[in-house]
Amino acid sequence: MKDNYSIYVHIPFCKARCGYCAFSSCTDFDLQKRYFDKLFEEVDRYSDRSKKIYTLYLGGGTPSAVSIRYLDALFARLDNRFDLSQLVEATAECNPESATEELLDCLKSNGVNRVSFGLQSVNDRTLKFIGRLHGYGDFLRALDRARAHGFGNVNADLILGLPETRADFLHSVQTVCDLPLRHVSLYALELHEGTTLYARLQGQSPFSDDEQADMYGEAAEILAAKGFDRYEISNFAHKGSECKHNLNYWREGRYFAFGAAASGFVGDVRYTNPWSVSEYLACPTETLRDGATEYVSREEQANEFAMLGLRLESGVSLSEFAERYGADFRSFFKSADRLIAEGYLVTDGDRLRVPADKFYVVNSILAELWHSDRD
Ligand code: SF4
Repeated sequence: MKDNYSIYVHIPFCKARCGYCAFSSCTDFDLQKRYFDKLFEEVDRYSDRSKKIYTLYLGGGTPSAVSIRYLDALFARLDNRFDLSQLVEATAECNPESATEELLDCLKSNGVNRVSFGLQSVNDRTLKFIGRLHGYGDFLRALDRARAHGFGNVNADLILGLPETRADFLHSVQTVCDLPLRHVSLYALELHEGTTLYARLQGQSPFSDDEQADMYGEAAEILAAKGFDRYEISNFAHKGSECKHNLNYWREGRYFAFGAAASGFVGDVRYTNPWSVSEYLACPTETLRDGATEYVSREEQANEFAMLGLRLESGVSLSEFAERYGADFRSFFKSADRLIAEGYLVTDGDRLRVPADKFYVVNSILAELWHSDRD
């Protein structure tokens, strides 16, 4: 995967700010022209035509909310500056209310072959409470339009732990399972101080950790029964529809990233762009990467490979680890043998993985794997 590069482009514009949002997003659409001009300068300066690009992802923000002429120009720019001849997956995040015919035409004609909808819940009361602009009906119409445009590979995002009942949440999971989707992402709500939802809930998550773990387990069972196999802790897909772009991240692959807050990993260097649109616009393009780059040592890469790979249902390949980092996994992570003996990790031929019944506590297992070696 190291030779297969991906590209991530951050499109930060949103029509309104959701109550829980802690992403880099901006509601001032008057900044679109300046933003895209800057993005094109960044692409021109930091592109590399010698790298074959394998996946492309437009995330946000709300890529579907910006003017189509900018999206057309962005695709043309990327095509001009990179080798996209081997592109196998191009995803655009869309919000249901902005996935218009015109937008879908634009995405289709520019080679997008995967659409990811921010649905979050099928419960209109919940959607309203968290400040989403769409209702469930808008999502169904957008899904129909996407399918009519030939988008067969469609994802819907759901959030676990929203201020609704457990039954409401499970109803969302059950409902999306019966829709013509290929992929479901299920993220746990993160309450960030400073967001309106945090204030409305007075910083209190609606569910305890144990309740959330139970709800997650039940959701995973419902999804599995309908053919959505879990392949990463938050991601479920029908066979063959796993998100290749995200798999590249989780397999410690390499990626270019452009736009505000975007973080890329090229060669052995990781970089992160200025967070907000105003900071990004204010930073001269030629110094965008100055001070925001970090050399990632082989040891850190080996650690990341394990930490990201063990969040995948398939785990990590021990022989690939040895080949990439010239070290034996069980010697590199001194607590690996103990975690295996205690049943928190299992080996399966060449693969080492977290067993299914321990998946919800994967973060604690990874922390144990990493920290106990360094105490
Ligand atoms: S659509 Fe996403 S990025 Fe935009 S405000 Fe809502 S949560 Fe934030």
